[in-house]
Amino acid sequence: MTKTIKLFIPGPVQVSPKTFAAMATPMIGHRSSDFKNLYREIHPGLQQLFQTNKRVYLSTSSAWGIMEGAVRNLVRKGVLNCMCGAFSDKWFDVSKRCGKEAAPLQVEWGEPIDPNAVDRALATGKYDALTLIHNETSTGLMNPLPAISEVLRKYPEVVFIVDTVSSFSALPIPMDELGIDMMITGSQKALALPPGLSLFACSDKAIERTAQVTERGYYFDLLEFKKNGEEFMTPSTPSIPHIFALRSKLEDIFTEGLENRYRRHQETNALVRSWVEENGFEYFAKEGFQSVTLTCVNNNRNIDVAQFAKKLREEHGFQIDGGYGKIKGKSFRISNMGDETLETLRPLLKAMTHCLPV
Ligand SMILES: *Cc1c(COP(=O)(O)O)cnc(C)c1O
Repeated sequence: MTKTIKLFIPGPVQVSPKTFAAMATPMIGHRSSDFKNLYREIHPGLQQLFQTNKRVYLSTSSAWGIMEGAVRNLVRKGVLNCMCGAFSDKWFDVSKRCGKEAAPLQVEWGEPIDPNAVDRALATGKYDALTLIHNETSTGLMNPLPAISEVLRKYPEVVFIVDTVSSFSALPIPMDELGIDMMITGSQKALALPPGLSLFACSDKAIERTAQVTERGYYFDLLEFKKNGEEFMTPSTPSIPHIFALRSKLEDIFTEGLENRYRRHQETNALVRSWVEENGFEYFAKEGFQSVTLTCVNNNRNIDVAQFAKKLREEHGFQIDGGYGKIKGKSFRISNMGDETLETLRPLLKAMTHCLPV
């Protein structure tokens, strides 16, 4: 039996006992009225979180499934992939692997996507889709989504695809108001469910585009989701335990209240940031563009990050992340997503201080 380790990595995040208990609800048939009632019951809450009046769909896959699906379904002419970190860089690679005409709009890791650069690229007329990661989890950077969405208004032929995997429900992201055509999130980050489910919603424009694209495959065909979704069903057998967990999580979210939830993320993030500043560290992401759901610390003190994380884990039972991909060791990340509060973060920060080399 391994010692229980509390997760403070930016995904998967710690899952509550209440959520796990909900997953153990006895199974129901996915074509039964019990299932349709379950989906129907959670749907208004999901629409409220997406800030949309469109149907919200449930995909039994990690977020990458539906991120790949978005490209397969929505790109006819070409896709512009906004790239500023590991996840957004990979979306370009995924687009090419789907056989699509794809072009990078790349900035240095830690820098945000510049709305003017998006404007210049779209003005070429080469693209009919754009991918953007709102909160780039690898670098702790939040892109200027409202400013980018303003640019997109000039280009009605471009389908705007936005990943909100690590920011969803932690701050308002008004899908309809921002003109987002497809908004995607996953289960194991901001929502604090176990991995294995993703959620998305589509505008009418996205659905119309899909109807014009061939070779969409089956598993992620948006028209299948639409057809089944109209009857509160999914195209294939979904992970029903996840949907019970989602119902439980929506109860948590609306009991707390959305405004309180948003404020809690601001406050917990500010607490982590005070630790960063008090201990002489800097942020990896550019000032003014730092995430509110995780903190990517720049290792300007040149500590042995692997040793620091190991000590924290072995002596205190807390897991943080030692940096993603090419910035492993040069940065480390602490999540305040999901259920974390000031009370749950204080012991972590105290232990982190204790584990810093003297
Ligand atoms: C984690 C993450 C993903 C990928 O999620 P998977 O569940 O591994 O498919 C995509 N985008 C962002 C921003 C993420 O943080």
